[in-house]
Amino acid sequence: MRYISTRGDSPKSQTKSFCEILLGGLAPDGGLYLPEAYPTVSRAELDAWRHLSYADLAFAVLSKFIDDIPPADLKALTRKTYTAEVYCNARPGDDANEITPLRWLEPGLGILELSNGPTLAFKDMAMQMLGNLFEYVLAREGEEINILGATSGDTGSAAEYAMRGKRGIRVFMLSPHGRMSPFQRAQMYSLPDPNIYNIAVRGMFDDAQDIVKAVSNDAAFKAKYRIGAVNSINWARVAAQVVYYFKGYLAATRSADEPVDFAVPSGNFGNICAGHVARMMGLPIGQLVMATNENDVLDEFFRTGVYRPRTPQQTFTTSSPSMDISKASNFERFVFDLVGREPSVVRDLWSRIDAGEGFDLSKTPYFVDLPRFGFVSGSSRHADRVETIRRVFDTYGVTVDTHTADGLKVAFEKRRPGIPMVALETALPAKFEEAIVEALGRKPERPRSMEGLESLPQRAEVMDVDPEAVKRYIVEQLAR
Ligand SMILES: *Cc1c(COP(=O)(O)O)cnc(C)c1O
Repeated sequence: MRYISTRGDSPKSQTKSFCEILLGGLAPDGGLYLPEAYPTVSRAELDAWRHLSYADLAFAVLSKFIDDIPPADLKALTRKTYTAEVYCNARPGDDANEITPLRWLEPGLGILELSNGPTLAFKDMAMQMLGNLFEYVLAREGEEINILGATSGDTGSAAEYAMRGKRGIRVFMLSPHGRMSPFQRAQMYSLPDPNIYNIAVRGMFDDAQDIVKAVSNDAAFKAKYRIGAVNSINWARVAAQVVYYFKGYLAATRSADEPVDFAVPSGNFGNICAGHVARMMGLPIGQLVMATNENDVLDEFFRTGVYRPRTPQQTFTTSSPSMDISKASNFERFVFDLVGREPSVVRDLWSRIDAGEGFDLSKTPYFVDLPRFGFVSGSSRHADRVETIRRVFDTYGVTVDTHTADGLKVAFEKRRPGIPMVALETALPAKFEEAIVEALGRKPERPRSMEGLESLPQRAEVMDVDPEAVKRYIVEQLAR
């Protein structure tokens, strides 16, 4: 399997292998990597995969994307990643060995539990695999990497829990000082591993992000100190997320003739992009139901054909904060497919985005073609979220978090008779106590692994908004 850039003309000689793009982010031309052609899955394969463990299903799916890791090694990596010990927060009544159990709320409507990993959010599903892939490839190449990132909560903690204790990897994670929830702060700052460095920046999330950009733009520093990233555009993360669409599909059906719809709470378009890839591979997905919160830039596109990224100032802070985005970094991957994989069209559209404008496809053949990709969309506001959390608890006795509630709100609107709807759960309610208290008048249950979390000792280096100070800190730590 060779990989191409959404913006490049990629002659054969410039395509890349999986391991070549694993540690990087953007392609040199500023585009995102995608397989040269999507691998396909036959009906017979799907039938044969029905009884595989999650780890072996992950091996089967990822093998289609990875041909430069020997199969026996890749299998060992998926088996090391997807274990009941890692996904230990399965709820009572679940089989933890399922990794992502499908919980039926009623016939035809289920929740795929993706949040049983160490940080209680679906990002663990791919990030844990990434941690093991990174460690393996770095060891093979005798290399090291220093991951630099900024987080407002979920991504940073998922990255730290995936990379903790890994050889050849250090994580320097910037977070806004005093602005994360006590739970999120405790999750990150209590990690004792010497390869994890938390930097609390006296500023906002955007300040932290700007520091990461400034450091990464210093090419000499970046090369000398082997600075890397694990952001949501990383192809391996998308590929690892494809697996649970297969798992959810197989759990919801008895034969590979039946279509299944999926509802996906969306922000950066990474999660649902994996659903799009699964559908392009031939998994019988009917609709991909994309749900946004008040930050509805993607919903607007699927309804109108107009893509109009917002500025950070125009971005609302909501009770489903992990979906508070102004532009969707993975969206370019879908648009590449939508415009017939024509890099010159993508280049043109994104030159307008980079100039701070949007684009309008409403009067183009591409928009006419859009229904072929199965997307339908909707959005949800705070009051919908609270009402959905109540409704789901009162009707089914199940507590869902605010992001999953956004997905369910739109799932209820878009359900079709006779076709199962699988709503992806993206976090556990324990992560967002405040909204649950508002909706249900009580705190959500907390998995046993998280009890007493806030009383553990914490450590973080508090710093000003100053890229040079962050660089000095990194250099000092590497010298120790
Ligand atoms: C990251 C995240 C999302 C959004 O996923 P994208 O891949 O960015 O679309 C939704 N819910 C939760 C809880 C998340 O952490």
